[in-house]
Amino acid sequence: MSEKYNLFYFFKQFPDEDACRKYLEKRRWNNSPICPHCCNAQKIYRYKNGKTFKCAHCLKQFKVTTGTIFENSNISL
Ligand SMILES: [Zn+2]
Repeated sequence: MSEKYNLFYFFKQFPDEDACRKYLEKRRWNNSPICPHCCNAQKIYRYKNGKTFKCAHCLKQFKVTTGTIFENSNISL
């Protein structure tokens, strides 16, 4: 099974992008975001769009897909 094939079926399980993102957040972080740049988990801010986070420690932005196979996929999250 190729990675693309898996992704296709993975995204088919979710009715929309939002549901998929929430699932990923829970699976990756158990709903407590951790900065993929510096591993800080203490102060993470969520932007109003709900998709982007900012780390108060290194001040870098990230998404739940940062550093995963989803980051370079064509699917917008
Ligand atoms: Zn950080």
